[in-house]
Amino acid sequence: MKTKTKSELEKELIKLRRKITELEKSETQSKQAELENEERRLYLQAVLTNAPDAIITMNAKHKTIMCNQGAEELFGYSCDEMIGNDIDDLIAGADKFEEARDYSKLVLDGKNVSTTESVRYRKDGSPVEVMVAGSPIFIDNKLVGAVAVYTDITDLKRMKYEIEEYSQELEHKVEQLQKLNEELSQYTYAVSHDLRAPLRALINYSRFLQEDFGDKLNEIGKDYIQSIAENALYMEELVVDLLEYSRIGRIKPKTNEVDLGKLLDNIISKLHPGDNVQIILPPKLPIIQGSELHLEQIFSNLLSNAFKFNMTLKPQITVECLDKGNVWEFAVRDNGIGIDPKYFDKIFRIFQRLHTQEEYEGTGIGLAIVKKAIEEQGGTVWVVSAPNKGSVFSFTLPKK
Ligand code: ADP
Repeated sequence: MKTKTKSELEKELIKLRRKITELEKSETQSKQAELENEERRLYLQAVLTNAPDAIITMNAKHKTIMCNQGAEELFGYSCDEMIGNDIDDLIAGADKFEEARDYSKLVLDGKNVSTTESVRYRKDGSPVEVMVAGSPIFIDNKLVGAVAVYTDITDLKRMKYEIEEYSQELEHKVEQLQKLNEELSQYTYAVSHDLRAPLRALINYSRFLQEDFGDKLNEIGKDYIQSIAENALYMEELVVDLLEYSRIGRIKPKTNEVDLGKLLDNIISKLHPGDNVQIILPPKLPIIQGSELHLEQIFSNLLSNAFKFNMTLKPQITVECLDKGNVWEFAVRDNGIGIDPKYFDKIFRIFQRLHTQEEYEGTGIGLAIVKKAIEEQGGTVWVVSAPNKGSVFSFTLPKK
């Protein structure tokens, strides 16, 4: 054997040293990887343990491999009791066994199955309502098992049940209220209807008294009869308005295409506003789908109020109409006495007036009719005003 020279030996030594360093390096790297793997494993273990739901993993033969604390808490079995067993045998119960089997079969066939609501049984036999979610586990495209997540939905179901009960109760109350409302409206209608004939008689007889026996009465007697006639007339006005109010909602009016331009011209000529009153209409008013009767009630009351509650020498009323997509928005603007905002709600209530009969005549039903007619057609009404600053009554009407 040839003896190696000194330089050859030195070269080999260098090579050997290099190899040792490489080996040391790769050992450190694999230790590092091992550490990282252990860390990852512990992290996943912690996620599984601390998850609020019951999580159970199983192998391809449906035997439990792993379970978490949530599963122990929900079903009352320890992990030792679950591991190695078919979970359906433990918790599905006789009534849900088939269903659970079918579900597991689908998951272990590699299908992603949507969550389902069901019942499972605890170790003590008590049922628990759960939401079950199952999903297959693949490693390198090979199905190795499945994971099942069970969420306790007892509270959720109880809340759902309570909400259903409340809404049923509410529906019942609404029905009762609707019935009462209907009865009340029928009662109002019947009373006001029946009051009309005796009232008419009272008005006529007080007129006959004035005409036939007026000269036999002194001034006080004449004043009394005059007062009876005026009050009976006012009562008739009230009864007529009340009848009109009770009709809205009780009888469904016909809806058809209404030419608003024509309708407003008719209303204005019927109201006789006086030469000093200026009413400005939009240059073009649309033809809209609605109840002509309701539209007449709305505009007629708003327009008559606009010049009635007006002390200026030149009352000016402007009607506005805006196309707001799904709804029409109308406004009736005046330069009248205005309204204190604290009365905005009150004035829409029946019989609520802010003035005496001597100051401004009226029955206090007009705006209640307006509100009811607008709401009956699915719209809303509101007012913007201030004392001595005029008022703007706006309302919407859905197009459909
Ligand atoms: P009435 O006109 O018969 O008094 P309404 O229901 O139409 O009854 O109106 C209720 C009250 O609202 C009126 O008494 C009045 O005080 C106030 N009001 C209504 N419209 C106007 C208006 N355009 N300007 C000022 N006040 C108004």
